[in-house]
Amino acid sequence: MWSNLREELYYRHIGEHACAALPALAALAREGRPLTRLRAIELAGDLLARADPHTGCIRRRYARDIAALLDLVRSDLAKKYADVDHEPDIFVYRMRSMLAFEGQTEWSRRLVGLIGGEFEIKCPECSAVAFVALGTHGVFTCWDDDSLTDDADDTDLIPAAPTQLAGLAHRLHTLAVTARQPILARRLTYFFGRTTCPRNAHEFTPADTIAGLPG
Ligand SMILES: [Zn+2]
Repeated sequence: MWSNLREELYYRHIGEHACAALPALAALAREGRPLTRLRAIELAGDLLARADPHTGCIRRRYARDIAALLDLVRSDLAKKYADVDHEPDIFVYRMRSMLAFEGQTEWSRRLVGLIGGEFEIKCPECSAVAFVALGTHGVFTCWDDDSLTDDADDTDLIPAAPTQLAGLAHRLHTLAVTARQPILARRLTYFFGRTTCPRNAHEFTPADTIAGLPG
């Protein structure tokens, strides 16, 4: 059912019309079983994110439903499970939905890079591309050979110290730590860390330059 619904709403309708489903999705999230709640919140967040930047009147019209969805996803994110690192990708989906409901659509999109811990980054200065894998046992960064000169070396990703994280980075890191998601918390320090492009030694933060974002 959910894949059909997503197909219909997300892919076939333009944002504004699809968002007419927000009240129904909010009701499903509120009353449904855990899986229904999960899917309803995720689809509602994606619909809003997709409708941006034309969401001004949508956000006003469905303000109550969006506020209700935001409350639900925040309480899901605050839930503590007995096991650590409980379903980290679902946790990231929930963070993305939360940001979409809050109107931080750009960040909602960028967090897609944390799902599965693999993503591409692109130097904002010279467009050199790197593949990044944040594994459980280490971090692997691979710069695209085609974009490099022969004598350039690969460079590493340097994690930010948790105490140095500020603003949204600090908030997401705190959410992950509080919910007993240490692997994700560690990934966030890399995501908001620093790297240097080997072509021209440009320094940048991976989270600012996630490539191949969903539209
Ligand atoms: Zn560069």
